[in-house]
Amino acid sequence: MRKRDLEIALESVKPFEDPDPALEQYATPATMAADVLFRAYSVGDVAGKVVWDYGCGTGVFAIGAALLGASESHGIDVSPAAIAIARENAERLGVDVSFVQGDVSSAGGGDTVFMNPPFGCQNRNADRVFLEKAIACSESAYSFHMESTLGFVTDFVAARGKEAALVATYKYYIPHTFTFHRRTKQGIDVAVVNIR
Ligand code: SAH
Repeated sequence: MRKRDLEIALESVKPFEDPDPALEQYATPATMAADVLFRAYSVGDVAGKVVWDYGCGTGVFAIGAALLGASESHGIDVSPAAIAIARENAERLGVDVSFVQGDVSSAGGGDTVFMNPPFGCQNRNADRVFLEKAIACSESAYSFHMESTLGFVTDFVAARGKEAALVATYKYYIPHTFTFHRRTKQGIDVAVVNIR
C-alpha cells in the first residue's frame, strides 16, 4: 500500500462523536497518522509485527497498522464510546483489529506501540502511565508529545534504560469544540519520538 492510499483510507476513520476534554480526546488527522505509520513501516516496525495502539480513540493507528500488514493489531481506550466507534471503523475498512476498553495500564504488549496520549494539559502527568507502559511492553514505540516537553520525555525514557529519537514534528490544530481554549483554533507544536 502506498502512503497516499493509506492516507485516503484513514480519512474515512470516523472521529469522536462527543469528545471528552478531560480525556484529551483529539483525533490525529489522517495525514499525520499516515505519515507516522509509514515511517514506522519503512523501518520494519509494522508488517508482520504485533502492534498496539494505546489510547486508540476511534482507532486510526490500529487500523492503519492492520492495513500495512501487521500480524496482529490491538487498540485499547478507557472510553467505551470511542471503542464502539473504533470497532465500526475497523469493520467498515475491512480490517481485523481487536479493540478493548480499559485503562492503558492493563494493555497487552507487542513489538510496536503507537500512541497519541493525553498531553497532560487537563490532568498533569496523564502521559506518564502511557510512557511507562510503552517502555515496558514494546520493542519500539511511536509516541506523540508537545514539542515543549521533549526534554522531559527524553530524560524519562533514558532513566528507564531506553532511548527516544525524534521522528517528526507537526503543527496540530486543536478543534474549536474545546471551548476552554481561548482562540477558536490554536496551533500547537507536537513531536513524535521513537522509543527503543
Ligand atoms: N489515538 C487516537 C486518540 C488520541 S486522544 C487518535 O490518535 O486519534 C487520547 C485518547 O486517550 C482518548 O481517546 C482517551 O479516551 C484515551 N485515554 C486517556 N487516558 C487514558 C487511559 N488512562 N487509558 C486508556 N486510554 C486513555
